[in-house]
Amino acid sequence: MKSFLAVLTGLAAALVVFVVPASADPGPVTPAGVEAADGCHTWNRTLSEGTSGEDVRQLQIRVAGYPGYGGVLALDGAFGPATKAAVTRFQQAYGLAADGVAGPATFGKLYELQDDDCTPVNFTWAELNRCNGDWSGGNVSPDQARANALVSMWKLQAMRHAMGDRPIVVNGGFRSVACNNAVGGAPASRHLYGDAVDLGAGAQGFCALARQARDHGFAEILGPGYQGHDDHVHVAARSGQFWSAPSCGI
Ligand SMILES: [Zn+2]
Repeated sequence: MKSFLAVLTGLAAALVVFVVPASADPGPVTPAGVEAADGCHTWNRTLSEGTSGEDVRQLQIRVAGYPGYGGVLALDGAFGPATKAAVTRFQQAYGLAADGVAGPATFGKLYELQDDDCTPVNFTWAELNRCNGDWSGGNVSPDQARANALVSMWKLQAMRHAMGDRPIVVNGGFRSVACNNAVGGAPASRHLYGDAVDLGAGAQGFCALARQARDHGFAEILGPGYQGHDDHVHVAARSGQFWSAPSCGI
């Protein structure tokens, strides 16, 4: 009888453990009105080709690092073939069923990959802005500069994962006009828009970073052999593609 009670107690304890949701595992997508999965964003429906809206745009931001070689994913809130392909690549990268449909498993992985402040887990607002605290004084509004930096962070998170999840060294990102002038930056530098990031060699080395960046949505890549870029790799967004790192064969 005593051991039977012990078993019952054990079962009850196991049941409690099972019922209490583990915060480390956000679990399936929650229906509308249910508590957010984290402090940043919660998806309330499965998204597939043909859907549109702000929830699609939030998804696009987080899979912007999976456009395929030389690609740039449009963050337009319309789930078309390019978004489907990006979602599929993201799913493949994390060993999920790769059907290009963003449902509970995909959202669960994205929740795991982001902090409450919306940054991907391995990058911070602070390292993307070593210029000032409020993202002011650039060529776009502070909100836009932050939004641009966030997209670059998600691209870097994808790149980091593709390179074996080793830390990527970030030397800086956003610059105000004053900060840009102080370091002799180009007058039209993407650092003024918040999306440019300067990478240190880290464990990967400059050329490996520059090569890998081509697969993760960076339209601008400058590295060794390009004037002023022998000591870092610069990745950014821009309209039209410009890649130059001659010492790396790029
Ligand atoms: Zn730069």
